[in-house]
Amino acid sequence: MNHSSLQIIETHAHIYDETYLEDRDEMLEKAFSSGVSQIWMPNCASETIGGMMALAEKYPNQCFPMMGLHPCYVKEDFEKELAIVEDWLNKYKFIAIGEIGMDLYWDKTFVKQQEEAFLYQCQLAKKHNLWIDIHSRNAFLETVNLIEKNADPNLKGIFHCFTGTLEEAQKAIELDFLLGIGGVVTFKNGGLDKILPHIDLISIVLETDAPYLAPVPYRGKRNEPSYLSIIAQKVADLMQIPVEKVIEQSTQNALNLCQ
Ligand SMILES: [Zn+2]
Repeated sequence: MNHSSLQIIETHAHIYDETYLEDRDEMLEKAFSSGVSQIWMPNCASETIGGMMALAEKYPNQCFPMMGLHPCYVKEDFEKELAIVEDWLNKYKFIAIGEIGMDLYWDKTFVKQQEEAFLYQCQLAKKHNLWIDIHSRNAFLETVNLIEKNADPNLKGIFHCFTGTLEEAQKAIELDFLLGIGGVVTFKNGGLDKILPHIDLISIVLETDAPYLAPVPYRGKRNEPSYLSIIAQKVADLMQIPVEKVIEQSTQNALNLCQ
């Protein structure tokens, strides 16, 4: 299906990743001609800023950077990393703070530092009047607790790569957050088939998290933003509505965040 008349916003893709070294421009052109009108780029750490900003400069009307320190990159030197984040926020207009949050899947060594980094960046979001793109893995409750107890009540954003339960989805929505739906929606046992039929379309945005989490039939391979149409179609099937409606509303939801 050709969505070229529709504008899809890719809300989360690491297109600066080295896996695109050989064919980055080609990969991006493919995305743009498949209907992707904007690609939002989450930052990871100071080492990813250079490549991300180069793309923002090369594609100023299509590729928009976020600024933040990813929880998996929170280590001993996190205060130095946060100073770099803050410095960039003072000199460039980013689309959001991201990706930030809690990750208790791989390593819990720096859980305290992760909390501190997340809360600090929530404050930066308030100061710069930006929304936040949340990475939460095996840490939904912890993340929600931090938001509820400490963050500005006006804080809003996206739970990127949402894969939780229906109760968790409802909690995120109650906190004024959107659910970022990606390739997991196409996975057998991904769990989103049990959630999406009960969620209002105004609460979701589309993303790939490229180069990770490619949708079926590319599962396990390199992901890229042109696969968003596969994700949109699967969301439409699960919600039993036309794919055009999914694209139109999720794009509107994304744009509303940035107002
Ligand atoms: Zn990501």
